[in-house]
Amino acid sequence: MGTARKTLFLVVVCLVVLLIAAGAAFGKTPKRVMIVVMDQMQPGYAQQYDMKNVLFLQDHGVNFKRAYVGDMASETVVSHNVMVSGLFPKNMGWSDEAIRDVDGVLIDPATTLPYGKNAIVTVGDLGTADYVKLITATGGYPKLGDYLKAKFPGTIVANVGEKGYQVESMAANSSDWWVRMGSKKNTADLTAPFSPASVPWTGTYRGAGGNPPPYIKNDPRFLVSVGNKSYPNDYYGTKDGWPSWMYPEDGRYVKGPYAGHESGDIWVADAALAIMDNEKWSGLWVTFSAIDKIGHMWGGGAVDTLVNYTWDPDSIFREVHMPWAAKNADDQLGRLIKKLKQKGQFDDTLIVVTADHGSTYGGKGFYGTDALDGASAYTPGVPGGWYAGTWWPSYTKPYDKPNVTDGPAALQPLMDTGLVEFSYQSTAIESWLKDPTAENMATCAGVMATLPGVIATYVKNGDHYDLTWASDSMTAAERRWWTRHGQELVNTMAFEGSADVVGLLADKTLYAAYGDHGGAQKDVQRIPMAFYMPGISHATRRAGFRLVDITPTVLETLGITPTATMDGKAYHLPIPGSK
Ligand SMILES: [Zn+2]
Repeated sequence: MGTARKTLFLVVVCLVVLLIAAGAAFGKTPKRVMIVVMDQMQPGYAQQYDMKNVLFLQDHGVNFKRAYVGDMASETVVSHNVMVSGLFPKNMGWSDEAIRDVDGVLIDPATTLPYGKNAIVTVGDLGTADYVKLITATGGYPKLGDYLKAKFPGTIVANVGEKGYQVESMAANSSDWWVRMGSKKNTADLTAPFSPASVPWTGTYRGAGGNPPPYIKNDPRFLVSVGNKSYPNDYYGTKDGWPSWMYPEDGRYVKGPYAGHESGDIWVADAALAIMDNEKWSGLWVTFSAIDKIGHMWGGGAVDTLVNYTWDPDSIFREVHMPWAAKNADDQLGRLIKKLKQKGQFDDTLIVVTADHGSTYGGKGFYGTDALDGASAYTPGVPGGWYAGTWWPSYTKPYDKPNVTDGPAALQPLMDTGLVEFSYQSTAIESWLKDPTAENMATCAGVMATLPGVIATYVKNGDHYDLTWASDSMTAAERRWWTRHGQELVNTMAFEGSADVVGLLADKTLYAAYGDHGGAQKDVQRIPMAFYMPGISHATRRAGFRLVDITPTVLETLGITPTATMDGKAYHLPIPGSK
């Protein structure tokens, strides 16, 4: 062969080899699924805060631009289990921040505590064992982690996040390891395997809670300072005034000043990386929570334009504002991706990036209490507006908060009916009645319709809700969204333990913290939703993808046939060679 022909031959050979290699690399069925939840992230944050890793996954994967939560209540403790069960909240065992334990399934026969059948229980106070009881009481259902472990024997499923209810509800009945921040303890009381010398500060600390693997449980890196008053203060200024002081930072969501003991989303990423280094895993669910905390404190979507704060890029106080928190959360996603690449797992890991709900702020109607902790009378750190009435703060504790009427002043006419046992207010109002007869529900719905910001009221009717009233003063945008989704969303939480009367609120209207979620508003429902794996054909889709569709879609992509009915539907992901 002449030199020119030789060169051409070599080029052709190289191209063929590259094509075969590309086919081998990209023509794959995923062997692992990583779900990264940016708690309370609005879709617009990706561009607004230059979240480069989120943008990469959206711009190279399948990006559902019109994704929405698709159910109620749009709350963390609900959404995290919707994502990995494919079930509407009504079929999950809990559908809101509170439930009525109609059959007393949470009763612990070993105790004599005065709770029981029909007790109102705040779901965020429960632990994994309780969520398992609630799941079992539905008859049980498989979760995404169960399917993955069956498909890939010898693998484990784990999840990590800052908050107890977020991690423990998602883990229940399925995860092998679940890691969250533990409760506050005094550094002076540190015992083996740690000692006071394990930490560079004095005061209080949190360690890894939940069911952490030993390499996390016994690693002093996972001890973090909370409530250390010496630097710069416990609250990074968020306790000093409106609006953040209604739900101030407590050290869990910032990086903090201590090298090697970073808190917040860095802590979460470090725990996830440790699991990636130590385990053969098929499912890893990672939730970053700083965006959520910032959104509650300053108002989701409002921080840059409506809240008067000083942005100092050199101050540690920057960590309690959205530009830093969003960018940092994205950086942590970048570290997870880098680890996948280092371990040679990037090419066959399906990555899902989403949020458990969006957020709004009190720009149009704010009915919380502008005071430290929202002038809460019961739990410091929990705005007073969220809970009103009588409930078990935690079913494992004595029933020590009888007849608390701590709700916002605007709620008073409803409580004055004397018919409400408990009410939860966020960006919707949900009330459980002492005696939920049709007459009492109609009376309460009538009063609820007079409360400020309410745009529609519903009463429970078995497995759905009936609309009893709709405001004629909705804006065109509110009416458009409500007409399309109001009834759909409310119905997804109807089961025997759910609220008897529900009031949906107008856009930018809420009753507790200045930023919040929980209801049916468009800003609260809209979420980012992207699927990525190398080789996937990029597509931007307009379909109304919901959280309940995640598990069916992942199962379809992996060629796994569901063994139980789900409420979500599978969307086909264009991954050549998958299944
Ligand atoms: Zn959340």
